Amino acid sequence: MSEASELKKKLKRRAKALGANLFGVANVERWEEEPLQPAEYFPQSIWPWSRSVIVMGVQIFPSMIETTPSVVYSELYNTTNRLLDEMAYRLSNFLNQEGHRAHFFPRDCYGDISTLVKKPEAAFSQVLAGRYAGLGTIGMNHTLLTREYGPRVRLVSVITDAALPPDPMMKEELCIRCGACVRRCPMQAFTPPEDGSPSPIAKMDKHKCAVYHAKLKGEFRYPCGLCTAVCPVGNDKKLYGGSSVSKEGIAHCQDFGVNTQ
Ligand code: SF4
Ligand code: SF4
Repeated sequence: MSEASELKKKLKRRAKALGANLFGVANVERWEEEPLQPAEYFPQSIWPWSRSVIVMGVQIFPSMIETTPSVVYSELYNTTNRLLDEMAYRLSNFLNQEGHRAHFFPRDCYGDISTLVKKPEAAFSQVLAGRYAGLGTIGMNHTLLTREYGPRVRLVSVITDAALPPDPMMKEELCIRCGACVRRCPMQAFTPPEDGSPSPIAKMDKHKCAVYHAKLKGEFRYPCGLCTAVCPVGNDKKLYGGSSVSKEGIAHCQDFGVNTQ
């Protein structure tokens, strides 16, 4: 086994031990071979020494996200964020000890939701990194759909100068174009693609989505995520069932956290 393959094996083992449900590697050339963003967003444009991007994912439990917008899901979201940043910090540190430049791009890197209302994007896309690292494909709802958890997965990326063997990108499209995400969006932020369009990705009014999130933040029930809660893709849905919370249970959980003052 080559030195690079040996290092990748060690990294994967560490990532799993730290709590990662998903682990994939992309070489930075993929951003150029299949460009889905302007070049200034490519990792090699920002950090010219970067050769590989390691993407890790942790799952979102269906029975918690289905209560959204709720404090239950909000706290889960915060927990996954802490876990992701800690995993990525530790993996970057390990790469340094192995003699490689490395750091991580934090999982939500836009500051506050009020900034997303003005400019609804971050400097680096974890979703695209996940796509290039072979973890899944991009669905109608603009999220990364994975076989294991559908879109119910949170991601973080470690950027390094180690030339690791990349994982193959997924060829099979996972989005089944059921339109559930479009129908359930409370802001009607999505315009689905025309029938027969080669890509399932909808047009999205990100400003509408950000405005709704700003409201939820004030209610302590941030983020929304309904378009990921309802997506039928993912083995997790088989485990938990299509709807894993009673209607009364959802209403009950949503009652808490709202500041009525
Ligand atoms: S997160 Fe909520 S508001 Fe934003 S697009 Fe998805 S369903 Fe719509
Ligand atoms: S809910 Fe349906 S249309 Fe939307 S991303 Fe999932 S599979 Fe695709």
